[in-house]
Amino acid sequence: MWRATILTLFPEMFPGPLGLSLAGKALVGGLWSLDAHDIRAHATDRHGTVDDTPAGGGPGMVMKADVLSRAIDAAAGDGRPRLLMSARGAPLTQARVADLAKGPGAVIVCGRFEGIDERAIAARQLEEVSIGDYVLSGGEIAALALLDACVRLIPGVMGKEASGTEESFSDGLLEYPHYTRPAVFEGHGIPEILTGGDHGKVRAWRQAEAERLTRERRPDLWAAYQSRPKNPSKPCKT
Ligand code: SAH
Repeated sequence: MWRATILTLFPEMFPGPLGLSLAGKALVGGLWSLDAHDIRAHATDRHGTVDDTPAGGGPGMVMKADVLSRAIDAAAGDGRPRLLMSARGAPLTQARVADLAKGPGAVIVCGRFEGIDERAIAARQLEEVSIGDYVLSGGEIAALALLDACVRLIPGVMGKEASGTEESFSDGLLEYPHYTRPAVFEGHGIPEILTGGDHGKVRAWRQAEAERLTRERRPDLWAAYQSRPKNPSKPCKT
């Protein structure tokens, strides 16, 4: 079973939205598990102090290395990857998500305030992961996003396995456009190729559209796609 352990000051935020829909069903069905631990339970003073003023001065508070390390040691001694949600971390990618989903699970530390004492990151070898170039008020929503992305890749969680392999990023391209009934919506029809029944043509159209959208919207992905090593044993999709 894929195991997620969350360390947070707000354990009541979990499973939150992941208790619903496919992830929620899979959680109840035992395809993955989630335990959220309150970092504050590892404070030693009677006020339950978890943060203190930054060395060197400046605004805000910093999460204490001693309290957080105790929380990590109590919850996460089993070799699962230890992630720290962090605005300055490596940007999360679908490849990293797929990697995590194939493994035993993850231990995820959620920061608050200005962040956590650098020594805890080093001493507990936390891998800093960002979900984008913007600043959240805490790591919990970032952790939920990361978990959502991982859980849907666990075998048996999604209705059709195929929908995990043909979507945005899985081959370095954004996904092609989708259509469904009605055949005409506010005067706009569906591209004829999609209703013509020629699967080869449909595949080629989708590939061309995925390439067009990637070129137009994400020059960074397009450049990477064009310079990717070609795999000669795999027939080209077009
Ligand atoms: N002072 C920090 C921001 C702290 S925000 C900085 O400038 O980088 C408080 C917490 O929210 C962080 O410790 C982190 O756990 C989480 N967080 C904020 N933005 C995030 C992002 N883009 N990705 C992942 N976690 C984020």
